[in-house]
Amino acid sequence: MAASLLPGEVKPVSQLKAHCSFCGQEQSPDLPLIAGEEGHICEECVRLASQVVGSWGRKRAAAKPLQNLLKPVELKAQLDRYIIGQDLAKETLAVAVYNHFKRLSMEQAGPKMPVCNPDVEIEKSNILLLGPSGTGKTLLASTLARIVGVPIVIADATTLTQAGYVGDDVESILARLVDSAEGNLELAEWGIVYIDEIDKLARAGESSHGTRDVSGEGVQQALLKLVEGARVKLSAKGAKGQGGDLLLDTRHILFIAGGAFAGMEGLLEKRLGSGGGGIGFHAEPAAAGADYDPACLFEQVQPDDLRHFGLIPEFIGRFPVITALHDLDEAALLRILTEPRNALIRQYQRLFEYEGVALEFSPEALRLIARQAIERGTGARGLRAVLEGLLRRIMYEIPSIQGVTGCLVDEQVVLGTEEPTLVADADIPRELVGEAAGR
Ligand code: ADP
Repeated sequence: MAASLLPGEVKPVSQLKAHCSFCGQEQSPDLPLIAGEEGHICEECVRLASQVVGSWGRKRAAAKPLQNLLKPVELKAQLDRYIIGQDLAKETLAVAVYNHFKRLSMEQAGPKMPVCNPDVEIEKSNILLLGPSGTGKTLLASTLARIVGVPIVIADATTLTQAGYVGDDVESILARLVDSAEGNLELAEWGIVYIDEIDKLARAGESSHGTRDVSGEGVQQALLKLVEGARVKLSAKGAKGQGGDLLLDTRHILFIAGGAFAGMEGLLEKRLGSGGGGIGFHAEPAAAGADYDPACLFEQVQPDDLRHFGLIPEFIGRFPVITALHDLDEAALLRILTEPRNALIRQYQRLFEYEGVALEFSPEALRLIARQAIERGTGARGLRAVLEGLLRRIMYEIPSIQGVTGCLVDEQVVLGTEEPTLVADADIPRELVGEAAGR
């Protein structure tokens, strides 16, 4: 029908062959087009457009941490809102993270950025946090990630195995990082990996494979590869919105390792006390004989000391920033109870508020709670355990008691000699409150 056009006759629009509005190719059985309101697009152009839009997402995701990059002083001030004390660790981390993102921003700017010596390559500043359990190592890493706006994954070195063995293989950490970035690969490549219990890494191999890998060196080597920077193939399982296998580049991922390094004190005392190991800034105090603050002993750690825990030199070398957290004393625990934005006492107060009850603690009760937590020897972690024990009974009863408006915890309650004092609505007799609670 359409084949026989007379000279000068105009073909109706409906009979014109459609063309891709982007590349101009004509529609054909081999080249179907998607029709829009005023144009068409072919499959090839859809693919190209998707790549372009993807690169916008990549730039946006990558630019986010850089756009809002806080200066070290600002980073530390933000950390202060959540973490009590540990000023040296906070300052060291603030500088390391600032330098890390500064390095990335220079790399992203490329030749556009005028520099005196373009041949100088800035290395990654992975961080090693040393300090007793419950002093805030994990809290520091996760708070930092939140402040900077990058995803974080927290892994336990003791569960890590080489690929092919039973347990979490090292690559699974990266799959979890992609999940924490909600499938955004580019954002994951800017993320933070926190590896806890790094001091037990050497033993990880021992426990999981018997005598096969006594030093756990295989796990360290596998981890080393990631820390140094590698393109790792991940199965797409679990990562949202991705098809097929994923390739994740670990070059820009910031690795933070933490460990209690039990027994390190003895090692350091021996080294510092004998005056044999002091170098650089520490040379004089060490030579004078144990002229250091025992509470800050961990600050004297040198990379070589870490080898006593089975860490291989190449691995230690990849963590150039080493900083220490110290034991939390009673005063610090007291502050941790009430000061941080997410302080434990505030959390319990919120829980009680839900029942219409104002929860109050006397100052002496708080001091006693801190003291009891110290006796448990698990750092600030002990605070929650003490509070749970203290408030368990009353949290069980209170939702079933009518008319209670207040609950006071004093020293006697913490000592276990009395129950918390309940304050009732003025029109409810005090005895009834006790009765309802089944006392
Ligand atoms: P670890 O050093 O063993 O990694 P965490 O960071 O997991 O210790 O601390 C356990 C909990 O104790 C945290 O969730 C936090 O509630 C509290 N905590 C520990 N240290 C501090 C601190 N310096 N400031 C505020 N809270 C802290």
